[in-house]
Formats: sequence, structure tokens, C-alpha cells
Amino acid sequence: MTTLPLADTPAAPGNRVNLLGLTRMQMEQFFLDIGEKKFRAQQVLKWIHHAGVTRIEDMSNLGRALRVKLLEIAEVRPPEIASQQDSSDGTRKWAIRVEGGGLVETVLIPAGNRATLCVSSQVGCSLDCSFCSTGKQGFQRDLTAAEIIGQVWLAIKSYDAFGPGRNRVVSNVVMMGMGEPLLNFDNVVAAMDLMLEDLAYGLSKRRVTLSTSGVVPALDRLAGVSEVSLAVSLHAPNDELRNQLVPINRKYPIAVLLESCRNYMAAQSDKSRVPTIEYTLISGVNDRVEHARELVELLRDFPCKVNLIPFNTFAQSGYRRPSGNAVQRFWQVLVDAGYIVTVRTTRGDDIDAACGQLVGQVVDRTRRSERHRAADDTQIISVG
Ligand code: SF4
Repeated sequence: MTTLPLADTPAAPGNRVNLLGLTRMQMEQFFLDIGEKKFRAQQVLKWIHHAGVTRIEDMSNLGRALRVKLLEIAEVRPPEIASQQDSSDGTRKWAIRVEGGGLVETVLIPAGNRATLCVSSQVGCSLDCSFCSTGKQGFQRDLTAAEIIGQVWLAIKSYDAFGPGRNRVVSNVVMMGMGEPLLNFDNVVAAMDLMLEDLAYGLSKRRVTLSTSGVVPALDRLAGVSEVSLAVSLHAPNDELRNQLVPINRKYPIAVLLESCRNYMAAQSDKSRVPTIEYTLISGVNDRVEHARELVELLRDFPCKVNLIPFNTFAQSGYRRPSGNAVQRFWQVLVDAGYIVTVRTTRGDDIDAACGQLVGQVVDRTRRSERHRAADDTQIISVG
């Protein structure tokens, strides 16, 4: 590997393009725009996403003149790891510092010969689902494509596993961390393109899952541009209850959402795939046998898998986790009706990395965290 002397590095950092977040097409356009051949894009993508290289000086097959030129106008800048926590069950959580001062969280969950990375798409979230820790933090901003794919890059880097082993460290990605991915459409689609791109991470479309709470117009739009797997955060078998748990349901009710999911699946080339219905079970709220029966009725003509997620408590959530018996009874109703049903085991509970517990650090532009604090104070006063 030829390394350029540091003297060739410009002293003053300018407004350089961050190559980390560019898709193959964007990277090709970038090289054409600077008067270079488009095959340079393939070389740079491999350096960044196959080899984990960030120093343009070290990209030895680019030629010295091109490297000097790139150093003036471009950089490869992953986000920064602020902290890392390891759970006793092998789960690893990172707090990742992003520009503007926020922190987002990324979680790697190993299971057998797979390891699933749960990736964030926004700093905070604007949708305020009542059972979600992230939702209570308010919303700061969308992550850039570089900050989203940068979470995959950092996870692999943290195991020092770039090279042929990288897809064993991250074999699956779920867009289920902080934020609603479809509200950050372009950046999420670009990052998912890189997850599927052979010159980057080369994951199969079955191993990349976008989870949405139901932003219907964006889901309709996604059908034309992406083939990733789909998960829908349903959490309730009727609109009345879902309006309380997932407020965006007031705008896009269940029937409209399920129709949009059908259209998304119909647009896929592989017709055998089905979406996953995510259902967080909350004690005394949506976990009764009647709710399970209502869910069976609702999903009667809707091919899907169901993933049950026993609620993970967090401070001031106001909700309780259901008993093991309640989960079993709910599960049984769905299984008896012929559904494939999984129950998500809690992972990383000792490091607050379980589903719904991600909080990060959000400069709240929505003032929602204030409202939630005020509501909590009111509850404490009324209890006293
Ligand atoms: S569950 Fe998802 S969409 Fe709802 S508030 Fe939390 S992060 Fe946002």
C-alpha cells in the first residue's frame, strides 16, 4: 500500500464531500463531475466499505495525482463513537455522536451464526408513540446517509472485521433504531442501497428490513425504489386503540396502512415474501385474548408473519410488561389461527438496548420532552 506523505493533506479542512454516504450512482456522478472516469467509483466504494479505509492517502490504486485532487474536495468521515457498552448476552450498544451535538444509538444483536444491527435514522423522533422511549425525547433532525451507513461501518470497525469477514459481523440490518425511517426517505433509501450494493456490504434484500409506524405516502413511494423487507409497527388490532398508541394512525388508519403494505409487497419481484407485523404487548392495554382474536380477524386476508414484543419498561413509561402467561395466551390464539408467530426475546436489557429503550441524546426541537416531563410531574402530584 502506497501512503502519500502527510504534507499532501490540505491544512485547512474545507467543505468537502463525505464519500461515505454516496451510493454507487452518486459516486460515479461525483467522479464524472470532477473529470475522472466512472470506474473510480468502484475502487473508492471498495476501499471504504470492503476494506474500511478512511484515509484517501491510503487508497493506493487511485494514483497520486487523483489522491491529491480528492484530498482537496472530499473526505471519508464516519460518525464518532461516544461510548460502547457490552451486555452479558453478547449484545453491544454504541452511542454515536453526530454533527450538531446529538447522540443516536446503534445495537448489534448476535444470535447463532447471524448478527443483526439495529440502525437509527433520526436524532429523536417526531411521532410520539406512547410506549416508546425515543418518542418521549422529541425530535432534533434527520441523519444524513453517511451517518446512517456510518453505523454499519462503525459496527464492523469496532470488531476490526473489515475484509471478507465483515458480513459475519453484520449479517442483517433492521431500520428499527431511533426515528421513523420513512420520514427521512432519501437518506434512508441511499443508505439501504449501500447495504445491498455488492461494492459495499452486499446484503441480500431479505436481510435488510425497514420498519415503519405507517407513513403511508412514503411507503407507497418506497415501492417503486426499494426491495428491502418490510416490517409494520401495528401494536393494536383496531383504530381506536392504535390512535392512542401510535398517533400517526389518526392520519393513516389501519385499513389504509395495510392496503399500502399490500401494494408494496405486490411491487416486489419475489412474490413469496410477506411483511412482518410488529406487535408490542403491553400489560392490560393490548395483550388480552380478545385483542388477539381481533388481530386474527383484522389480518384474515393479509399474508404476514407476526412478531410479538413484550414491552420493555423504561423510566416514566407508565406501562407494564405482560406476564409470561399473557404472552403465551396471545401467541396461542395467533398460532391456532395458522400464523407464523415469533416472540422477541429481550436482548441487552442490562445496557438498555432492548427494543423501545433507545434514548440517545436529543436537542428537542419539538419541546415534547418538556410536555412529557410536565405530564409526569402532574401524575406524581395527583398520586401524592
Ligand atoms: S416507535 Fe418508532 S415511530 Fe414511534 S416514536 Fe418510537 S421511534 Fe418514533
